[in-house]
Amino acid sequence: MPKTMVYLVGAGPGDKDLITVKGLKALSQADVVLYDHLISHDLLAIAKPGAEKISVGKFASDHTLPQEEISALLIQKAKEGKVVARLKGGDCYLFGRGGEEAQACFEAGIAFEVIPGITSALAAPCYAGIPPTHRDCTSSVAIVTGHRKKGDDRPIDIPHAGTVIFLMSVGNIQNIIQSLLTAGYAADTKIAAVEHGTCYNQRVVKGTLDNFLDCLKDKPLRTPAIFIVGKVVELQEQLDWFSKKPRILHLGNHPERYAHLGIIVHRQIIHCVEAADNEQINPSLRKAGQYDWIVFTSGNGVKFFFKKIHALGLDARIFSKTRFAAIGQATAQRLMEFGIKADICPADESSKGLLEMFAEIDVAGLSILLPQAQVSSDELPEGLSKRGAKVEKLVVYQTIDKDIEDVDFDYIDQILFTSGSTVRAFVKKFGGVPKHIQALCLGLSTQAVAKEHNIDAKILK
Ligand code: SAH
Repeated sequence: MPKTMVYLVGAGPGDKDLITVKGLKALSQADVVLYDHLISHDLLAIAKPGAEKISVGKFASDHTLPQEEISALLIQKAKEGKVVARLKGGDCYLFGRGGEEAQACFEAGIAFEVIPGITSALAAPCYAGIPPTHRDCTSSVAIVTGHRKKGDDRPIDIPHAGTVIFLMSVGNIQNIIQSLLTAGYAADTKIAAVEHGTCYNQRVVKGTLDNFLDCLKDKPLRTPAIFIVGKVVELQEQLDWFSKKPRILHLGNHPERYAHLGIIVHRQIIHCVEAADNEQINPSLRKAGQYDWIVFTSGNGVKFFFKKIHALGLDARIFSKTRFAAIGQATAQRLMEFGIKADICPADESSKGLLEMFAEIDVAGLSILLPQAQVSSDELPEGLSKRGAKVEKLVVYQTIDKDIEDVDFDYIDQILFTSGSTVRAFVKKFGGVPKHIQALCLGLSTQAVAKEHNIDAKILK
């Protein structure tokens, strides 16, 4: 990739997966990312570590940076010898002022490339179940802005197309409807609004030109939204596919694992960090191969335990005499990644399940190491101690609550708790689970923590 390059990248309409492969490549190689407000912020995680990420705004009326300053910043960063990805909502050249940014590069003699994106003008109708053209309805479609330059009060141009799609029109919808009627559109012409198209909180409102404003009375439209005018709106009853999918708030680390369940709204509410206090725990780690049993109650416990073992220059060979227990399948799988098969893994994936399995074994006098998180339940160590085992807890990681982007709970059907810590962090931040939402969790131990917080969570099979 050449040094000094500006990529104008269409980032798609909101669903983060609707960016092109070429757009992703440019984003992952950029030194500087300048992004609009309307792009999916999940995309920013794809930028390379250390890339400078600058929000340049673009709200309907309140631009964080005026257009001239955005162009100037692009040029300035490119002149510093950097590769710049300018992430723009939808497609760069459709009402996005991308043309002006490309012109600014041309005038400054900066090399640029433009990577088209999926425009909201087509993607929002698609996710709403409204094809802009259909042989039974129309053979033409026009895309119109309902918003003119400041000071330009001329009426909106109404093209005579079978379908007309309006962008930037929420604040001006009354005038637009009037202009459509004046232009000869019948009062019973179908119209739909698609708010937050392609996002989990997409809302579709349908009506006819003469009753549409009434349809919006109860719940006013929010931006961003587009309007679709024409007979194709009738097809929505048959072709709506997106709103049928459950919307699941996922609070853990691997949203891709659950994509088959529905629309995943990912908010990583905690993150796990290695416990820092090595001086205190290194002696136990050095003699880890001398314990009779090592018991893991989470995949993170496995991950951070082995990280510390490896940091001491040791590896799994020291465990030839040690036996291992895992609280559940996921933890056992994690252990396998380090070449160790769990000797015990209860079907009842909980501390109780583990204790029941240990009841079959005479643990009196045996040494048991429990690598775990800083905040962990006492049920297991106490249960094992009661049977005469010498139990040692080893804090290998801790969980830290993260600031998360807002969630519109009206548009959430299910919440997936992936660990007890996600339950605690969620309750601390939001108080509890709203009544209309079904709580799901990954195992019995998470279910038990949910119960402690009055959350009735169903285990995800
Ligand atoms: N270049 C962009 C459009 C920029 S103009 C594109 O190709 O999509 C901004 C307008 O786009 C908004 O006022 C709104 O009308 C529309 N828009 C952008 N994202 C949208 C979304 N997710 N749902 C509905 N409309 C959207």
